[in-house]
Amino acid sequence: MSVLEIKDLHVSVETDQGTKQILRGVDLSIQEGEIHAVMGPNGSGKSTLAYTIAGHPKYHVESGSILLDGAEVLTMSVDERARAGLFLAMQYPVEIPGVSVTNFLRTAKTAIEGEAPPIRGWIKEVRESMANLRMDKSFAERNVNEGFSGGEKKRNEILQLELLKPKFAVLDETDSGLDVDALKIVSEGVNRAKANTGLGLLLITHYTRILRYIEPDFVHVFVNGRIAEQGGPELADRLEDEGYDRFLALPNVG
Ligand code: ADP
Ligand code: MG
Ligand code: MG
Repeated sequence: MSVLEIKDLHVSVETDQGTKQILRGVDLSIQEGEIHAVMGPNGSGKSTLAYTIAGHPKYHVESGSILLDGAEVLTMSVDERARAGLFLAMQYPVEIPGVSVTNFLRTAKTAIEGEAPPIRGWIKEVRESMANLRMDKSFAERNVNEGFSGGEKKRNEILQLELLKPKFAVLDETDSGLDVDALKIVSEGVNRAKANTGLGLLLITHYTRILRYIEPDFVHVFVNGRIAEQGGPELADRLEDEGYDRFLALPNVG
């Protein structure tokens, strides 16, 4: 059983105004096959948590640790994290000029596995995943995210998720800006990845809508850089009714 453990994580960034504390003691443990929804208001630090797991250099870890099956993730390079089985679907996926979707996927797969995937099986797998995600074949030869619509970028993230088969994935607001049809297609992709590989998931979202399609085992309410409350799926329903106001009224004990 794989497990990703985040322990008492404190993270800051350097801004023009000086050091800004963002994460203030995050504790969260995800077992293989579990889906954890992290919900919270804008600016509460959700993306910071995602970037810190992925190893973005801008985010400075003050203290705490992230363990993947007991191994310290924080000392790993971004590449090592991917090879260890971590994946981040970004809130704002970046364009990669000059690199086609197919080349990107094959390069990433090769880097993660340590050898190139056998060409025929690989091409078939890519085609199938693209068809499942209702991505037109022409996307394969287009540059990554260049001129993609918001929804197309999100599908492309899930395409990577399906093909790279990580142990744990962080999806940062993959649902934002998607219409209902795209939301269903993306959710089906995530559920397929989970069924096929036993993926553990940290699903960051602002809205409860996606949780109708991807059913969480646990829901965490994220406020002011830490988890203010946790529960089961019923907590998401309560948030839908009550919003975050109740949590925002809490004193900010940094
Ligand atoms: P969320 O994803 O929950 O909306 P973020 O993690 O994006 O929150 O941001 C949390 C807080 O940290 C915000 O106040 C944001 O402005 C600030 N922040 C995040 N990244 C940076 C950065 N690179 N430089 C300066 N401030 C940042
Ligand atoms: Mg603290
Ligand atoms: Mg965010």
